[in-house]
Amino acid sequence: MLPGYGKISNWAYQTIPQAGLNGRRGYQPRGKALGGSSAINAMLYVRGHRADYDDWVREGCTGWGWDDCLPYFRKAENNENGADAFHGDSGPLQVSNQKSPRPISRAFVQAASECQHREVADFNTGDNEGVGLFQVTQFHDPARNGERCSAAAAYLLPVRAGRPNLTIITRAHATRILTEGRRATGVAYRKGGADHKVRAAREVILSGGAFNSPQLLMLSGIGPAEQIRRQGIAVVHDLPGVGQNLQDHLDFILSYTSRDTDTFGIGLAGGLNLVRHILRWRKDGTGMIATPFAEGCAFLKTDLSLDRPDIQLHFVISVVDDHARRLHMGHGFSCHVCKLRPESRGEVVLQSPDPMAAPGIDPRYLSAPGDLDTTIRGARMTQAILESPAMARYRHKPMYGVTTDMSDADWERHIRARADTIYHPVGTCRMGKDRMAVVDPALKVHGMDGLRVVDASVMPRLVSGNTNAPTIMIAERAADMIRGRNPAATAAAHV
Ligand SMILES: Cc1cc2nc3c(=O)[nH]c(=O)nc-3n(C[C@H](O)[C@H](O)[C@H](O)COP(=O)(O)OP(=O)(O)OC[C@H]3O[C@@H](n4cnc5c(N)ncnc54)[C@H](O)[C@@H]3O)c2cc1C
Repeated sequence: MLPGYGKISNWAYQTIPQAGLNGRRGYQPRGKALGGSSAINAMLYVRGHRADYDDWVREGCTGWGWDDCLPYFRKAENNENGADAFHGDSGPLQVSNQKSPRPISRAFVQAASECQHREVADFNTGDNEGVGLFQVTQFHDPARNGERCSAAAAYLLPVRAGRPNLTIITRAHATRILTEGRRATGVAYRKGGADHKVRAAREVILSGGAFNSPQLLMLSGIGPAEQIRRQGIAVVHDLPGVGQNLQDHLDFILSYTSRDTDTFGIGLAGGLNLVRHILRWRKDGTGMIATPFAEGCAFLKTDLSLDRPDIQLHFVISVVDDHARRLHMGHGFSCHVCKLRPESRGEVVLQSPDPMAAPGIDPRYLSAPGDLDTTIRGARMTQAILESPAMARYRHKPMYGVTTDMSDADWERHIRARADTIYHPVGTCRMGKDRMAVVDPALKVHGMDGLRVVDASVMPRLVSGNTNAPTIMIAERAADMIRGRNPAATAAAHV
């Protein structure tokens, strides 16, 4: 699904005006559905680099190194290519090769090879450096071939009937975590205009995502005391790190128009193409309808002395302008580039005591100068790939006034004018052991009883890649912890 559409299934948040982006407000789509953002995401299956998780351990997240997490990535996964040292073939999350990548995406891979970047078949072995095609979270069995496998499709829907200890309440908005002293005892929620409460027999598990988990904690009086009081809410527990440490991948897009019509385009050729591919999709779940749009991927180093790639490229088979909210006639292609481990840190704040109001989102993009420098170097490398011979037959004209002779100041102007998120906010309920950490390595909220956070907000640092697979890995580990199983034992069982 394109992130700009369907507000029925998308919270469609906005950031506060970003000084680093000429005062523009960023757009922040988030899934409003069972499965959350995995129900509207691009389905790209990426874990990050092994050193990312080893960094987490250095930040106080004992037991979260790559070797600890790998068994949970494998446990979660049913990979179309079968099991090996890095992949599983019997988990609920369906991971597939792309059904029908467009020839232009293979040309992108070839173009990157022409720029001396190595081709890789698998980005998920702990070392992601290189260029290739993404694997995707889609079903690969004949009955559901090509269908999206969201977290709900993987874990929830298969067991929704026949589990006496599972009740799913939809169209409900959690308004507060109920507490008695420092113990979480349940959740208050609003449904159809009426307020309800559910009591927790053992614990409350908060999985509202990087924006809404800190918001709900603060609405419940758990977070920075002064901020909570300012909204007229009674403080239950002064926890200064709640909402802090927001990190996100700021993304810049280069687009070209193309005369090749074997891409996603608007107009007569695009329309006819679409009809043909809808018929193909109905027949066997293949063709362009099965595309994640972002088909090609690269993890590259802007400085060869780095220990791991510092930029990621997403090659897309259409023009992407303003999150695909602004459409262009004709055909084209795009390539996103983002800095993988940004140094800028932002925050999520409570704007209102009203639980139905949006949280205040301030990523403070480009507030750390190094983020702009890397993005400029990354944009130049991306342009070099798109200008390579292998892309010649697809290129017509570069869009938005980008040229091959731009100075750093020109690139900066373009980046500040057009860059925005590629949808990976994390870190606002950071795991760790220090004063600003929100949860401990067992994902329990510091200073509270019976309350855990299990979602992307607990990541202490953004991983070098997309965030869905890492979030599912976190949830797999949490399941073991909640059930009192020793993660190390599960790890041994899945090696
Ligand atoms: C458009 C888009 C494209 C993306 N593409 C990719 C991709 O291709 N690959 C990848 O790896 N990652 C991708 N991501 C990121 C990835 O999907 C997320 O990192 C991941 O889903 C985060 O999981 P989460 O559980 O932390 O939060 P979410 O998935 O956002 O889940 C939070 C859930 O909590 C619910 N919620 C929040 N507040 C309340 C409340 N008060 N009451 C009731 N419910 C509430 C939300 O509705 C949602 O269902 C994308 C994200 C987006 C938005």
